[in-house]
Amino acid sequence: MEATQPKTPMVSISGVNKHFGDLHALKDIDLTVGDGEVVVLIGPSGSGKSTLCRTINRLETVDSGDITVAGKPLPAEGRALANLRADVGMVFQHFNLFAHLTVLQNITLGPIKVRRTPKAKAEERARQLLERVGLSGKADVYPSQLSGGQQQRVAIARGLAMDPKLMMFDEPTSALDPEMINEVLDVMHDLAREGMTMVVVTHEMGFARRAANRVVFMAEGQIVETATPDEFFDNPQTERAQDFLSKVM
Ligand code: ADP
Ligand code: MG
Repeated sequence: MEATQPKTPMVSISGVNKHFGDLHALKDIDLTVGDGEVVVLIGPSGSGKSTLCRTINRLETVDSGDITVAGKPLPAEGRALANLRADVGMVFQHFNLFAHLTVLQNITLGPIKVRRTPKAKAEERARQLLERVGLSGKADVYPSQLSGGQQQRVAIARGLAMDPKLMMFDEPTSALDPEMINEVLDVMHDLAREGMTMVVVTHEMGFARRAANRVVFMAEGQIVETATPDEFFDNPQTERAQDFLSKVM
């Protein structure tokens, strides 16, 4: 696969800096994610991967620089911001499902409230998505009745229910028991093959190699290397990347 420079970026980040007090958490970040592209962000803990993800749907503001999603600058507030967050689906390490709502209600809440989708239509779509993530039959149970891997697949279905322009995954399998990791990665890999634009933070190097169009390696708030998966894993260019890979592979 080629590390192509996309014509119409779905996400464009340029010159972004972010501080937390004295800590310079993001340093002059430039990154574009093309339509349909899968970018895997890897790097040591504390390198700024989550912060970078969170800036894309404005869960974090930036100190300087520009970010656009689908060509538009990020809205600051109100309905436009709610729409942005619906456009940028996010799946975190912890499933963040509403415990007091059924699986179906978890998935339909956003479409009904934010997208103003009629309830019956939202439920029909939710059932299709549950089938797609291998959970048809679980519509009416509560999250606590599901395994971690099942809950994470519900979280993916919930993101997809908004018809997002892109999906971001921040260590979606890090909290899972080992035997549940693949069922989540398989759903993500299917999504990638179907053309979903994705930004994925993961320590699953096998997934990165299989699913990524580009690997972006971060360390200490900077993008240190950007390469195709084969280039990155077979021939990392920087000492930092070589050192990181020697510890995780
Ligand atoms: P990663 O996801 O790569 O592990 P993070 O983006 O979570 O890294 O964190 C980058 C750095 O910013 C870390 O040093 C972290 O402690 C710090 N950081 C992240 N969020 C905050 C915050 N809300 N307040 C202060 N420091 C933060
Ligand atoms: Mg993180």
